[in-house]
Amino acid sequence: MKCENKKCTREKSIRLVDGEVVCNYCMAHALECEARQLLKYSLSKRRLALDARLRPRGKEAVEKLKSVMSEIFYARRN
Ligand SMILES: [Zn+2]
Repeated sequence: MKCENKKCTREKSIRLVDGEVVCNYCMAHALECEARQLLKYSLSKRRLALDARLRPRGKEAVEKLKSVMSEIFYARRN
């Protein structure tokens, strides 16, 4: 399967929690890895990690990361 990111031409692909298929070089994959990592942290450590990302990345990027985290969290429960 090809990466579904139109700007990317790589063949090797991986299915994300939202069903999208991308390669393991694309940002969507990096974001999901980061989200999975943060989900392993305790709640207090997770809050600190998210706060630390606010200034360099902005609120929108942190909200996106949080939404991926909750998607992974709820996908695991089903
Ligand atoms: Zn890709």
